[in-house]
Amino acid sequence: MNFLKADETILANYKPYNGLMLINGEFCDSVSRARVDRIGPAHGIVVGNYPDGSREDVDLAISSARRAFDKGDWSSLSGKERADILLKVADGIAARVEEMAMIECLETGKPLTQARGEVSGCVDLWRYAASLARTLHGESYNSLGDATLGVVIRQPVGVVSMITPWNFPIWILSQKLPFALAAGCTAIIKPSEFTNGTTLMLGEILQQAGLPRGVVNIVTGLGDKVGGPMVTHEHVDMISFTGSTRVGRHIAAEAGRQLKKVSLELGGKNPQIIFPDCDWEAAVDAVVFGVYFNAGECCNSGSRILVHKEIADTFVRAVVEKARQVPVGDPLHPEVKVGAIINNNQLNTIEQAIKTAREKGAEVLLGGKRITTDKGIFLEPTIVSKVKPDMDIAREEVFGPVLSVLTFDDKDQAISIANDTCYGLSAAVWSKDIDICLEAARKIHAGTVWVNTFLDGFAELPFGGFKQSGLGRELGKHAVEDYTEQKTIQLHS
Ligand code: NAD
Repeated sequence: MNFLKADETILANYKPYNGLMLINGEFCDSVSRARVDRIGPAHGIVVGNYPDGSREDVDLAISSARRAFDKGDWSSLSGKERADILLKVADGIAARVEEMAMIECLETGKPLTQARGEVSGCVDLWRYAASLARTLHGESYNSLGDATLGVVIRQPVGVVSMITPWNFPIWILSQKLPFALAAGCTAIIKPSEFTNGTTLMLGEILQQAGLPRGVVNIVTGLGDKVGGPMVTHEHVDMISFTGSTRVGRHIAAEAGRQLKKVSLELGGKNPQIIFPDCDWEAAVDAVVFGVYFNAGECCNSGSRILVHKEIADTFVRAVVEKARQVPVGDPLHPEVKVGAIINNNQLNTIEQAIKTAREKGAEVLLGGKRITTDKGIFLEPTIVSKVKPDMDIAREEVFGPVLSVLTFDDKDQAISIANDTCYGLSAAVWSKDIDICLEAARKIHAGTVWVNTFLDGFAELPFGGFKQSGLGRELGKHAVEDYTEQKTIQLHS
């Protein structure tokens, strides 16, 4: 397999980013003074250095967010005033796309070209949220009798803890933070310990945009040490979490003890269903892109395809041929489409999933092996066939560049296999028959069903999961409302 190497001068000229946390409007180290290096998974060198936050930092950050909220420093501004600041943040991100994309690439191992797309895509999320800040509204009822006017207003929910994963660090934060700010909330944020860079850079942008002190606070550190108290702290009103279903369940249970509001965006095992009459070229492209984008470390990864038996051999051969051509290598190389795996633990988990599938009778048609480079953590794009619906590799998230191939006899069986997991994040249906597509779209238990396309996204469209893929929705015109409470006021004359 051809492994593309990047121009060595890019790394030679790179200076590691020494980020600081943001608490009460001040950039700071942890109270403990401890810091940790982030070693990039593609190059094995230090790419960033960050505060190793503690419980005390969380307490300070939450007090600061609480104070800012209770004083009304942010919530009492008009929608236009909040929108103006969100728009400045959008401009600030647009001005730093290159720098943010670089740290995102180096910390995650994703191709720089994809990191650029991710960061520049965030600009639109901030702009969209700004538009919603100006249109957030309640309702009035004059149908309650002449003596009563009913008015329903929306008020910000309060202090929100936001905990994010490593796979799309700045994008996922931008699905949450601007919408919470548009509603008038204050926030404390913890990025994944593997990918602090862009979140801390966003902290700098927020300060430059004129966000009042304490409205957004960022603490870096480990999940249990920093994330834990962010969930249980009595001054937090809502938790917005994106990450694994395992941690999501734990957070929901903790939040339940205090009946805090939660929003959870969790894992997925997303099927693409291929019918014989589909546009083969488009479907093959979408299958290959869908599973190898971000090295498969994507909640929406199309990690399993369900192919009609009639075409399975020929279609899968075409997928294998296309997958063989996917450029793998140093994520700094401009043509690379599959970069590094986030860390060794994740690589071991992926390899174990492939091994278990083999032991159960699945066959590896492509890849399946580590790629040995000087210091990087890479896996070959992999395709596993002869997968049965009851195998783990058909039901569990692998979170790597691994495609499982299953077959079906008819539409009903395809839908039934598609629904046969604990997840329900997304799915795709490929057919020229609109009746089949619509029936499948209605019957598949997933928050998003794409028809003859895959992984497109728009700020206007709600995103989230059925079943154990999550609770609540992000994006869309109601996204701001999730960060509000409704208050009913009855006026009597
Ligand atoms: P993870 O659950 O291990 O960690 C996510 C975040 O939670 C990190 O910041 C981590 O430090 C923190 N955390 C860990 N333990 C915690 C605890 N006890 N209390 C509080 N916080 C804690 O997930 P990950 O490995 O970073 O990300 C990959 C997972 O995220 C995958 O399952 C993927 O499907 C999911 N994901 C979902 C979406 C979505 O929108 N549905 C998007 C991206 C990723």
